[in-house]
Amino acid sequence: MTDRTHAIVLRVYPYSRTSHVVIWLSPALGRMVTLVKGALRPKSRFLGQYDLFYTCELVYYTRERNGIHILKECSPINYRPGLRDRWRSAMTASYAAELANRTSVPGPDHQGLFALTGHLLDHLNTNPPTAALVSWFEIRWMGQLGWAPQLTGCTACNKGLTGQTNAWFNPAWGGLKCPDCAGHSNSTDTWQLTPDLLAILRSWQDTPHPDTPAKTFCHPTQVLALQAFLGSILDYHLDLQTASRSMVMDLLKPDRTRRTEQPCVAP
Ligand SMILES: [Zn+2]
Repeated sequence: MTDRTHAIVLRVYPYSRTSHVVIWLSPALGRMVTLVKGALRPKSRFLGQYDLFYTCELVYYTRERNGIHILKECSPINYRPGLRDRWRSAMTASYAAELANRTSVPGPDHQGLFALTGHLLDHLNTNPPTAALVSWFEIRWMGQLGWAPQLTGCTACNKGLTGQTNAWFNPAWGGLKCPDCAGHSNSTDTWQLTPDLLAILRSWQDTPHPDTPAKTFCHPTQVLALQAFLGSILDYHLDLQTASRSMVMDLLKPDRTRRTEQPCVAP
């Protein structure tokens, strides 16, 4: 039996002397794996038809038993050539692909993850990455996986927390707590979030396209706080850090000489 789908290439690695295993993100199946028989032969019909970060149209033989489908036909529909020239964009795309590979599971209804990844890669194809772009992607990704922190009210007493007061967050709570309910937690996993950070995060949670978030100017202290906050949620759910995230955070490290500028209070 054959099936057809669009999918984004997340990983390609060799299998035997002449074949490839390709890991894809598809809207219908989520993370899916195909064997590409004869991919490395000189006259293979698959030569040039797929590569990292391409979106392709696939026809494949379905294999339920081991979950590795057999690729029958493949046609690229979005090459994203800018990711071959822009190494900073390529590094950021690699982090997104690793996150997708590790957190999206096989199964139906991954339209949101597929669209989000496509939007990010399209943006990186023609624009350099920014720290704000990566943080926007992470908070949107968490929303698609059901990990999104609840950022509008106290998870214990339901008191609204959208005013100009600080709130506390712990990944295990799944959201914020007001000062009264947070008590005097000394846990290293508990974060104090200021109103400006909460305003940025709430705005990004509701923004499906990267163009505006990518241009958000964040003060270096805000960048570092957002990266640490989002990293704590990823650590909690993934239980280990991704090497590519550390590399991207280092690449997009804020210029500390700009600390004298005023932080923005809203995106
Ligand atoms: Zn409360």
